[in-house]
Amino acid sequence: MTDPIILSQALIRCPSVTPDDAGALGVLEDALKPLGFVCHRLRFEAPNTDPVENLYARLGDSGPNFCFAGHTDVVPVGEASGWRHDPFAADIDGGMLWGRGASDMKCAIAAFVAGLQRYIEKNGKPQGSISLLITGDEEGIAINGTVKVLSWLKERGEKLDHCIVGEPTAVAKTGDMIKIGRRGSMNFRVAVRGTQGHAAYPKRSLNPIPIMADLIARICAWRLDEGSEHFEPSTLAFTTVDVGNPTVNVTPAEIRAGFNIRFNDLHTPDSLMRRIEEIAAEVKATHGGEIGIANSVSGVSFVTKPGPFIGLLEQAITHVTGTKTELSTTGGTSDARFIKDFCPVAELGLPGVTMHKTDECAALTDIESLTRIYETVLELYFAQ
Ligand SMILES: [Zn+2]
Repeated sequence: MTDPIILSQALIRCPSVTPDDAGALGVLEDALKPLGFVCHRLRFEAPNTDPVENLYARLGDSGPNFCFAGHTDVVPVGEASGWRHDPFAADIDGGMLWGRGASDMKCAIAAFVAGLQRYIEKNGKPQGSISLLITGDEEGIAINGTVKVLSWLKERGEKLDHCIVGEPTAVAKTGDMIKIGRRGSMNFRVAVRGTQGHAAYPKRSLNPIPIMADLIARICAWRLDEGSEHFEPSTLAFTTVDVGNPTVNVTPAEIRAGFNIRFNDLHTPDSLMRRIEEIAAEVKATHGGEIGIANSVSGVSFVTKPGPFIGLLEQAITHVTGTKTELSTTGGTSDARFIKDFCPVAELGLPGVTMHKTDECAALTDIESLTRIYETVLELYFAQ
């Protein structure tokens, strides 16, 4: 039987910092093939990007196809000397497994495999299929990973019916929180253009700095919303303001700034852009100058509304932990933003307190309860 702790250690010992696979997917294949999974290694690349290894593994040919999704790539170690344990040694100390990727999200992938194996041992092969969609490009630019595996599946006519992403969603203890949706994320770049001039004669030029100051003040004063049924209020944050003027006697011709909006289901990228353009038009009408705005969308907001699928996850968690889970839509983006276009998806994983940090770790008890939750999810799902 696959021990989720030992498989976690084997995965952590592969230093798979995006886009390197470092053998991680091979470790998974070795665990899945003896169980009867058909494994497809999918290598994708795009101009000016590093090639990325991905894995799609499936047991069974019929529907429904229950999918576990995740990533074996990890973020860099950062300051290596700051770690109490070698980040790729996977030491066990004080009831914790230490290493880069422990929380985000190699131990959850090990729990997928151990959980489904326990299910199969007890119940035999399911009436339907179990699949794993594992990418090596989640922490990076995410263009050679899940997106391309999903379109590969679509071309083959292969369908996912429901999906759990094993991202770290818990707060203190596995199962205390799951994510049923995510906010969208959108980045804006604004440039205000005036005319360059002598600092002693401000009336002879159009200084773009006070115009940008007014624009920033008006954008920051915009209350996007008060939140919605499943979401907290949307937020907006300026990330940079740049003039780069080394002189003291010249006022510049141009100033640039950038901000990010995390938005709920009350907005779309179009509606946000329209509002920003309206504010810019007001500022231009007041001061003059030229205001240019560009945006890029990292993901739109989505929610898998509470219903039979989410209910099944809640039931499995209560069965294993004895507690009720909180349904949340907070946090950053994940690959669930791509999967949601194919099937209902929710995220259920380990506590995320140490993800991306020095001394990333996972409690052995959390890995075991996550394994039991995944096993119970399969039991409830295929009993339907
Ligand atoms: Zn992750």
